[in-house]
Amino acid sequence: MTHLDAKALSLLPADMAAACERFPSALSACANLDALNRLKGTYTGRDGSFAAQLMESLKVAPKAKKRDLGAVINGLKKNWEEALKTRQTELETEKKQLDSTKNAWDATLPPPMPPAGALHPLNRLMDRLVDVFRPLGYHVEEGPEVETEEHNFDGLNIPEDHPARGTADTFYLAQHSELLLRTHTSPVQVRVLKRLAPELEARGGIRFLAPGRVYRKDEIDPTHSPMFHQVEGMLVGKGIGMHHLKGTLAYAMKALFGQNADVRFRPSYFPFVEPGCEMDVHCPLCGGSGCRVCKGSGWVEILGAGLIHPNVLRIAGIDPEIWSGFAFGMGVERTAMMVSQTPDLRLFFENDQRFLKAMGGLD
Ligand SMILES: [Zn+2]
Repeated sequence: MTHLDAKALSLLPADMAAACERFPSALSACANLDALNRLKGTYTGRDGSFAAQLMESLKVAPKAKKRDLGAVINGLKKNWEEALKTRQTELETEKKQLDSTKNAWDATLPPPMPPAGALHPLNRLMDRLVDVFRPLGYHVEEGPEVETEEHNFDGLNIPEDHPARGTADTFYLAQHSELLLRTHTSPVQVRVLKRLAPELEARGGIRFLAPGRVYRKDEIDPTHSPMFHQVEGMLVGKGIGMHHLKGTLAYAMKALFGQNADVRFRPSYFPFVEPGCEMDVHCPLCGGSGCRVCKGSGWVEILGAGLIHPNVLRIAGIDPEIWSGFAFGMGVERTAMMVSQTPDLRLFFENDQRFLKAMGGLD
């Protein structure tokens, strides 16, 4: 207590009583240890301080008052000393903290960096596929996501009455009903074939990959999304047959999933290939022994493929009597889900950093 009651104050000389009143505010005004030391000198110092003056006044006080005054003065001194000590500890702690931040400054250290970004797992998988095919002479082609019916359907030998052309399956642009969001990466085939047809002989053929986004009117659920990714591949040359397709894809799957990755082909139908097939790969999770992902069969479907339909070559201005080729298309999300055992497609689009970090080992 640094405030005295009226009775105690009345015992003190007037200037001392005023000094007592000032003490609390003077103490909290001390912003550093130097200021505190000055205040300490003023109040409790050995010579000339208020405490010293009070001791002097005690000596000359009337005998009757001495006892009470002595108690007041001792109490005061004790309170001042304790309050000064507490404030000193506070200021010393503050100073220590300040010094430690000062000492932590090292101009030679690299500055703190924001967390680095990284490629999305789907992009990494697409890049990986490109890396597998590039040494085989494939380059990357891109096409627009807003396409014409001509490129998305007509050029791919898709019949006029094919259900995929309907508005239930395909997003058409409201203002331009002849334009649509491409439903597969195959229109890139049509564009590339048309563009390179005149120089086909000089180039000795065409090989390319076309990774990209595609759109279909699907409800969002764990295995469907109205937007997803495909990687399309195509090769045109002379005397190209199914054995070239099988050899190329078997090589690619080994490069992607390891040397033990066996493949098998099943007949299938797509309007733009003849014959058409689907390819299964030995389940990359169980290695073929059977698990939940491959539903116990040891095989998982990974892509659709086939020999390019003569009509597709013809529409692009290429003579199917001279040239032939194969094409394949792979669902990127589907493959990523399989490889990473991700049960829900939506995780790839939600940008939850915990998921993206956990996917760090996808490739
Ligand atoms: Zn399996």
